[in-house]
Amino acid sequence: MKKNDSSRALQTRIVHPEGEITPGFESFAAPVTRASTVVFPDLATLRSLDWRNDTQWRYGLHATPTSAMLTQRLAAIEGGEYALLQPSGLSAISNVYFGILKKGDDVLIPDNVYSPNRELGDWLARDFGITTRYYDPLIGARIADLIRPDTKLIWLEAPGSVTMEIPDVRAITAAARARNVVTAIDNTYSAGLAFKPFEHGIDISVQALTKYQSGGSDVLMGAAITTDRELHLKLKQARMRLGIGVSSDDCSLVLRALPSMKARFEAHDRSAFALASWLKTRGEIAAMLHPAFPDCPGHESFKRDFTGAGGLFSVVFDDRYSPEQVDAFCEALELFSIGWSWGGAHSLVMPYHIASMRTAAHWPHRGTLVRFYVGLEDEADLRADLEQALERACHGKSV
Ligand SMILES: *Cc1c(COP(=O)(O)O)cnc(C)c1O
Repeated sequence: MKKNDSSRALQTRIVHPEGEITPGFESFAAPVTRASTVVFPDLATLRSLDWRNDTQWRYGLHATPTSAMLTQRLAAIEGGEYALLQPSGLSAISNVYFGILKKGDDVLIPDNVYSPNRELGDWLARDFGITTRYYDPLIGARIADLIRPDTKLIWLEAPGSVTMEIPDVRAITAAARARNVVTAIDNTYSAGLAFKPFEHGIDISVQALTKYQSGGSDVLMGAAITTDRELHLKLKQARMRLGIGVSSDDCSLVLRALPSMKARFEAHDRSAFALASWLKTRGEIAAMLHPAFPDCPGHESFKRDFTGAGGLFSVVFDDRYSPEQVDAFCEALELFSIGWSWGGAHSLVMPYHIASMRTAAHWPHRGTLVRFYVGLEDEADLRADLEQALERACHGKSV
């Protein structure tokens, strides 16, 4: 009997509808395929499925055609083979820990790492039998001295969140490979555009797609990209065991923003560089922590390995300005908003007290650090805004 036999009740025919949509429709938008249930033609097909095979559809949690379109493009941008989506950048980070480590293993984390990653490392050490050690991000080849037989994972971040030191990625991955240690980089800063991790010996690249890939400050998503099938499968299995997936609707939003990402990244880069160049001439600023500037620690690695910088940079205020004055500067800004996350069109600002966030490397500055994210506003307007806020907060002038 046909499923949609017209002798059946209307309600049944609504659930099992008749008729086909005219084929041949084409558009540029990614089709949004929503599913929990994926339907199989017969039980033999279902029983032949292998979770290792990324091209078989099994369950909406694991993949849909929409999410597969996104993973293919992300792998291509990064220069990898496989990509795994996660519901946030942080969840892409935590999934690496669960996929790679087990009780008794040791992990090395840079001292300047994205703070929630550090929080996770501390938690794994406190409650899950992992040893977590922090290293000076500028350690380079000397990381070899820290690698022990139980070291199974080394994290890198290039440049480090907030303080912007650029590690010598090649020296660290060479030391890790010599001892069979997996390396994972948080590559969010470069969006996979300006730094190609697999050309520098990295095993796993993590992206917070929440940032440039989404571009709208309205989607949370993350990804882990690899070139190695075994590593990909370890991460995929951890993700399946934890029951983590992403919605096709969110994937379609990121897919919509990806074609403009390179142009946006370059626009952020131009404005940020110009504003950093101007800020560097201001007497209130003691240090310019923009990777493209020679005073940024690790600048030589940046010049060697990166093709661009994007919209993020930090400055350290001269310590004659109190933390309260620096707070007042941040609040006096009108076009730079106070808020977490970045990668969208809106400029952001955030002050940080770094010394209390470090345990491995000495933080040399006494003044307050401020991180800027330069959005897509007009550059001259942003500069005027910075100027009026500096004059007001540091010199008591109202402009
Ligand atoms: C934002 C960010 C993350 C986390 O991304 P979420 O999607 O907000 O969880 C991870 N690493 C870096 C460097 C980030 O900037």
